[in-house]
Amino acid sequence: MVAFCMQVVCTGNSPMKQRPRKPAVPRPAEETLRRAISELIRDEPLPAREISVRAHLTEKDVYSHLEHIRHSLHAAGSRLEMTPAECRSCGFVFSKRDRLTPPGKCPICRCETIFEPLFAIRERTVHDP
Ligand SMILES: [Zn+2]
Repeated sequence: MVAFCMQVVCTGNSPMKQRPRKPAVPRPAEETLRRAISELIRDEPLPAREISVRAHLTEKDVYSHLEHIRHSLHAAGSRLEMTPAECRSCGFVFSKRDRLTPPGKCPICRCETIFEPLFAIRERTVHDP
């Protein structure tokens, strides 16, 4: 025997104030974009400029997505490999820089032409030495 218990409770239409809320979940489009970026740089190091062209995004957006990718990859066991920026003039390598965005100028020779950092996704190998 199946007993249907139809309790109709009116929950809507209350005169209470409804605050509009921003959705806490990232929009599906962003997830798709991040997956697309991840695919672009899987084992192929690319500068943000190149990613922005291929993914039809601004460089600013690319850096923001890369930040998210860096965090989510860490949990997934892969990592975002970053080839540091390098001064075109004197060859100074910005190896200690943790930020993803390229530096404005070289601290050694003040030259403003910098090789942009490259980004790639590497699977973490299971073979620990
Ligand atoms: Zn330099």
